[in-house]
Amino acid sequence: MPRMLLDIQNRGQLSAGMTAWSPGRSQLLATLKDVGSVTEVFRLSHRGKYESLMEQHLGRAAIGHVRYATCGAEDRGYAQPLERPHIQKRKWFSFGFNGQLANYPELRSEILAGDDNHLARDNDTEVIMHAIGNELSRNAEMDPIDLLKAISKRFDGAWNIAMLDACGRMIVARDPLGIRPMEYARLGPLVAAASESVALLNLGFPTESIRSLEPGTALIIDGDKVRIERFAESPKRAHCFFEWIYFANVASTMDDRSVYLTRKRLGEELARLETIQVDADTVVVPVPDTSKAAADSMAYRLSIPSVEGLIRNRYSGRTFIDGASSRRQKAESKYTPLREVLEGKRVILVEDSIVRSTTMKVLLGRMRSLGLAREIHVRIACPPIVAPCFYGIDMSTIDELFAPPFMRDGLLTEEAQAAMAAKLGADSLRYLPVESVARSIGFDASELCQACLTGQYPTPAGERLYQLAIGHTAGGEACRTYETAGR
Ligand code: SF4
Repeated sequence: MPRMLLDIQNRGQLSAGMTAWSPGRSQLLATLKDVGSVTEVFRLSHRGKYESLMEQHLGRAAIGHVRYATCGAEDRGYAQPLERPHIQKRKWFSFGFNGQLANYPELRSEILAGDDNHLARDNDTEVIMHAIGNELSRNAEMDPIDLLKAISKRFDGAWNIAMLDACGRMIVARDPLGIRPMEYARLGPLVAAASESVALLNLGFPTESIRSLEPGTALIIDGDKVRIERFAESPKRAHCFFEWIYFANVASTMDDRSVYLTRKRLGEELARLETIQVDADTVVVPVPDTSKAAADSMAYRLSIPSVEGLIRNRYSGRTFIDGASSRRQKAESKYTPLREVLEGKRVILVEDSIVRSTTMKVLLGRMRSLGLAREIHVRIACPPIVAPCFYGIDMSTIDELFAPPFMRDGLLTEEAQAAMAAKLGADSLRYLPVESVARSIGFDASELCQACLTGQYPTPAGERLYQLAIGHTAGGEACRTYETAGR
């Protein structure tokens, strides 16, 4: 399990954990979890401690989780999997959740309206636990598909679930819109699933055995029986485009679309739109690591070198997925501009996206003061992020976003891009148009969620939260939309 979690550590670094099932142990389900990276929680740098932990958590089946917070506190109480013990084995379960319920405020209010009800945490994971628990308390023997049918009617948003009960039954479900990815593989008696294919590939499953779980379906492993069944119709898809552009591991393929090839095509789109005259002193510099594929392909198309003008400190983590308090400090210690590469050059700096601009501002400041580049032209392999996400990426207010104040009537004009460049301290800045995204991933735009680019949300609760966010911006409130919706 730690091996798989390491491969998807990019998806969250706040906490890590696993639950394992062993029929020969009195603690049928045993959960290990804590705040920290996979290496820290599983003590991977201490052989004795790691082996002892693994011995205590041996099992014939296991689920694991790495946490990235879009709501709730950053302490151990929010680490997953979330286990709910019970005297009846079918009602004793543990689960990990990937996504975010956009109608969480309503679900929370409904629960709290009940006599004597209390929620110990301020997030949707506990609400999901109660929804599953309620169904099981009505009928502990219910088929997992009926359980998922019942809960899916109540959920609005992104919700992939991996669940394990004290009978050893495992359920892996993907929400009907397929907002977040879910891949699985079978090889002989082995069955595994993960948010990203890279975790399955590195576990030894051959590429051709790895498949995407269809939205609205579940993989159920019960003893030696394995089945995939539909629990909800899936008339439309809304795969999060941001997975391919930034969030996912570059080695992954999700819904049959390679992350690497998508980023490479985004770089080609940037090259096609480039207008500056390149000369012998023009170089492309990627902001490592997520922009490298786009930068390299852009440079190749422009017939200029792509060089490492920024060296990333590999131990400082990913700024975007850390808590806001440490974001700027981390950005400051994250990159070192290389003077011997940048001095006197006209630099085309390629970044995968700009959300809040924390990293970009710090970076340009450091490149100006240490690198001595002649010019810096920023190119973004993504359109401007103009609206919040309510489906699992931590950007939940309009005010925290960089681009909206520059885009009058939502339009990305040359003047708007020039003003953004001036604000960042760049000589010029260019984004990709929205159409480039679907073209590069290889989906029709109607099959993608691009709500943070367009303000058009694929679910009613997302749409409602957006209207609320617009109201907060107009009213000068800077809180997470999601957390105020129920107030
Ligand atoms: S709003 Fe943006 S980040 Fe959120 S799921 Fe949709 S595309 Fe992804």
